[in-house]
Amino acid sequence: MMNAEKTAAITEIDRLAPKLIEVSHKIHAHPELNFEEHYAHDLLCSVLEEFGLQVTRHAYGVATAFEAVAGLSGPEVLVLLEYDALPGIGHGCGHNVIAAAGLGAGLAAAALAQQVGGRVRILGTPAEEGGGGKIAMARQGAFKTGVAAMMVHPADADLIRMDSIAVHTVDVTYQGKAAHAAAAPWEGRNALDAAVLGYVNVAALRQHIRPSERIHGIFTEAGEKPNIVPRQAAATWYVRSDTISSLQPLKKRVMACLEGATSACGCTMHSQWDDHTYADVRDNMALVGAYVENMTALGRHVTDPRVSGHSVVGSTDMGNVSYLLPSIHPMIKMAPDGVAIHTEEFAHFAGGALGDSAVVTGAQAMAMTVIDLWTKPDLCAQLSSEFAQVTSDIDVLA
Ligand SMILES: [Zn+2]
Ligand SMILES: [Zn+2]
Repeated sequence: MMNAEKTAAITEIDRLAPKLIEVSHKIHAHPELNFEEHYAHDLLCSVLEEFGLQVTRHAYGVATAFEAVAGLSGPEVLVLLEYDALPGIGHGCGHNVIAAAGLGAGLAAAALAQQVGGRVRILGTPAEEGGGGKIAMARQGAFKTGVAAMMVHPADADLIRMDSIAVHTVDVTYQGKAAHAAAAPWEGRNALDAAVLGYVNVAALRQHIRPSERIHGIFTEAGEKPNIVPRQAAATWYVRSDTISSLQPLKKRVMACLEGATSACGCTMHSQWDDHTYADVRDNMALVGAYVENMTALGRHVTDPRVSGHSVVGSTDMGNVSYLLPSIHPMIKMAPDGVAIHTEEFAHFAGGALGDSAVVTGAQAMAMTVIDLWTKPDLCAQLSSEFAQVTSDIDVLA
C-alpha cells in the first residue's frame, strides 16, 4: 500500500507532466555547453518562480547555477539538476531529462514539504561535461548541509548506478627548437617527436595498468608546416582510475611516460592539470534501496549492473558530491537497449516519448524517495552510518 504522501506526489507530478515535458523539450532544442547554459538556467528559474518558490539565480558563484529551497524544518534533501549539452551532438547525454525530472521532483516535494515536515533544496548544477560545475559549487559551500543528494541520469536501462571512475585531465606542451627541416635539421629539436614518443610511452604503459583504468589522449598542436621542425607540440590526456585515491599513482606513471620523451628529443615539457578531479561515485546503498523500491512501485525493474553485466561506464562530478553527502546517481531507461550515451541517436531519444516518460517516472521516484527521507528516521540513520565509511585520503575538492 502506497502512503498518502507518495500518492499525492505521484498525482502532483502527473498534473505537472505537460509542463515538465515542455521544459525538457525546450532545453533539448537549445543545447548549451559547459557554463554557457543561460537559456536553461533562466527557463528553470522562471518555472520555479512561477510555482511560488524563492530562487537564487547564479548561486554559489557560478553564473549558470541556481538554488531553490522549500520547507522550514525537518530533514533537508537535495535534488540535483544538470542541463549542459555536448559539442556537435546536442543533448547526447540527455541532461534535458535530468533537468525536467529534477524539476518535477523538486516541485512536488516543495508542495508537500510543509505538510510532511521536511525541506528540499533544488540545485541547478551546470557544466557536468568536464567543467566540474558541482565542484565549483561545493567549494562555495553548496553541499555543506543536507541528509542526502540525488539525481537520475538517462541510459538505455534502469540501473541502480553508473559504473563511474575517477578522472583527471592534463594538458602538456612540449618545447623544442625550430629549424629548416631540409636545410639544417640538425639545428632543430623536434617537439612533435617528443609528443609522439610520449604517446607511445603511454601505449606501453597501458599493458601494465588495471583493466578498469583508462588513459586516452589527443594531439592538440603538432607543428605548422612540414618544412619547419616543430618547435611546439601539445596534447590533452584523460587519466582514469577506479577511485580518486588509486588515480594518484597512475597520474605519476603517466607523467613519467610523457616526460621521458623530452630527454630523448632534447625538448622541455610543461604540464597543467585541470583545476578539478572527478571522483568516483560512492553510491549510498541504503538510499539506492529506497529509490529501487519506489521505482518498482512505479512499474520499473531496476537492476544492478554488476549483476546483470549491463553497465554504463563514465565519470561525473556527482562523484565528488558523493564524498560530501550520502548520494545516488541511478540510471533511468530512456532509450532502447544498446543505444549508448554520447551519441546522436541517444540525443534523438532524449527529445522523444521515451525521454518524456523518463522525466515523469524519474520525477516521481525521486519525490517518493524524498518523502521516505522525510518520514523514516531509521532510513536517515542508515544512510549516515553507511556514509561514515566513505572516506578518502585525497581532498575531493582540491
Ligand atoms: Zn555525458
Ligand atoms: Zn551525463
